[in-house]
Amino acid sequence: MKYGRVYNFSAGPAIMPLPVLEEIQSEVLNYNNSGMSVMEMSHRSTVFSEILAESKKDLRELMNIPDNYTILYIQGGGTLQFSMIPMNLLKKGEAVYIDTGSWSGKALKEAKKFGKIITGASSADKNYTYIPDCSDLPITPNTDYVYICENETINGVKYNKLPNVKNSILVSDQSSMFLSEPTDVASYGLIYGGIQKNVGPAGMSIVIIRTDLIRDDLNNVPLYLNYKIHADNDSMYNTPNCWAIYCCGKVFKYLKKLGGLEKVKQNNIKKANILYEYLDSSKLFKGTAEKNSRSLMNIPFRTESDELDAKVIKLTKEAGFENLKGHKSVGGLRASIYNAMPIEGVEALVDCLKNIEKNM
Ligand SMILES: *Cc1c(COP(=O)(O)O)cnc(C)c1O
Repeated sequence: MKYGRVYNFSAGPAIMPLPVLEEIQSEVLNYNNSGMSVMEMSHRSTVFSEILAESKKDLRELMNIPDNYTILYIQGGGTLQFSMIPMNLLKKGEAVYIDTGSWSGKALKEAKKFGKIITGASSADKNYTYIPDCSDLPITPNTDYVYICENETINGVKYNKLPNVKNSILVSDQSSMFLSEPTDVASYGLIYGGIQKNVGPAGMSIVIIRTDLIRDDLNNVPLYLNYKIHADNDSMYNTPNCWAIYCCGKVFKYLKKLGGLEKVKQNNIKKANILYEYLDSSKLFKGTAEKNSRSLMNIPFRTESDELDAKVIKLTKEAGFENLKGHKSVGGLRASIYNAMPIEGVEALVDCLKNIEKNM
């Protein structure tokens, strides 16, 4: 392939669109006649201010984010949000978390340091292979929010219907599905995503928060962990991750040019179906997530044994397919097929798996 690149199925940091990388490459030494690269310029410069403002404008357009929501760029990755969310949103002191796998589990554990956290539903009984029924959660007048991980990167499950949060608000970790399909932002109080899964390089999260949920009574919360500081300063209270913001801006423009998120979703469905259809017909492999909870982005699958899994991973690697090893906590294989994975990559992977199966 071009530049000796491989089909990269990494769960994150992950594949980025080649045209975006090429554009970034062309601007590395001299961005837009500024005489310097984005890595070298002051975050207070006019040039960077424009990059920041334009990226937020493009994201707002792309996701159709209503005016009463604020976009924040915050460092610390997805993990910092596990702490920031309870620190900023627990007011009466209780929240309901839905336990659907590794990432919601980590968020739940962290939130317990800050308040009374109730597990509203769980799929632990079946190894986190499905999304539990969330139509009647134990929400009380003291529930400040309901928390979900909308796409579990490791377990490969995704909500096809959002929980009924009654009078509460919904908080969603969309890290591994961010911009993979249209989202009705108004259904949420807060959406966030670490960008290194489906958008850009590592080192930043995008938080989209309903503006009235940003509080000004959090005097004991450390500065950097207070959403208000980031909101009041347009994500520039301190030096932001300028490089990540610039790269994300490029990806937003690229997705807009592709035709927007509905187009992106149709493409993602097509790609995922190619792999799922093969897995459903295969005698060697089996997808681990239940059909009605399947992720479009992260597809875990396995053979009958760990030894055979390891052998398949080795064979795929030799054939030029990288990062198909499942997360160490669950084993097996996993293909992450984010927006930037071309359909040819999925087709080639299926051909490779078919070949392996034929020769077993
Ligand atoms: C990767 C991931 C995180 C954690 O992101 P970091 O940036 O590594 O802290 C959180 N949630 C989900 C769903 C993820 O996939």
